[in-house]
Amino acid sequence: MRQQRSALGNALQRLQLSILRAQLHVRQVTLREQQLQREWATTIDPLLSDLYWEPLGRLQEAPEDEGDLREWLLLLLMGGWARRRLSDNLGSYLLRSADVGGEMALAFLDVDGGFHLSAPDYLAVINARRDELLTASAELSLLDTTAEQLTQAIVRAREESNPLPYLAPLVSSWVATRRNSITITEMAWAVAAALTWTYLNNAVEEQMFTARADACALCLPKHGVVVRTNNVPLGYGIPQHTGCRCIWMPVTRNWTEPANIWRGGRVT
Ligand SMILES: [Zn+2]
Repeated sequence: MRQQRSALGNALQRLQLSILRAQLHVRQVTLREQQLQREWATTIDPLLSDLYWEPLGRLQEAPEDEGDLREWLLLLLMGGWARRRLSDNLGSYLLRSADVGGEMALAFLDVDGGFHLSAPDYLAVINARRDELLTASAELSLLDTTAEQLTQAIVRAREESNPLPYLAPLVSSWVATRRNSITITEMAWAVAAALTWTYLNNAVEEQMFTARADACALCLPKHGVVVRTNNVPLGYGIPQHTGCRCIWMPVTRNWTEPANIWRGGRVT
């Protein structure tokens, strides 16, 4: 009897959950995100181009052996000007994306007023992400991919009488692909991080994984899953894939608005 009752209870719970999911629509990408992405794309474009052209400008000195060539490229990329300028760009746009995420969280909570991330702990998380993107052999490294693309292309270009006409269109297409994947995917990371931080610091205990129109067909199976804001389970990190734009929606049953709303400042 008890087993039957719990089976019925589970079935009811599943039914309630599927109703909740059906009611929850896939969200649209906001205007603020679209504007910021366009601005980021414009500013990162020449920097990505320089990242490729800086080592290509020293092609005469490049080692013959493929392994040596890859090492030589990585060293040049690590110490180059392009990397430093790219670091400033990534840092600044990750922070601006986090501010967009914080504002979005407050809007979902129906709270007026602005948001600006200045809490040192969270700024450190943003900076760690930026640095990982620009460190050789790191999981998210943009430099490893760059060195690999250049190595393959240089080996191939050496078979041409004049390598530059072969390399130039390749660089243009790499820049276009990476501009899109960085501005979409990294913005999604910063927006999702700031959404969670804003819920967490405003006493919202649960959040719902939410896919968005067009961008996230791959993420639909996770759409509607509720997790705790202080403990996102493995496998639910956002972005889920390159081009992912999923977000966290607050679960506000039982939530009361705190007297002092957290707007990104010092966490005590
Ligand atoms: Zn997604």
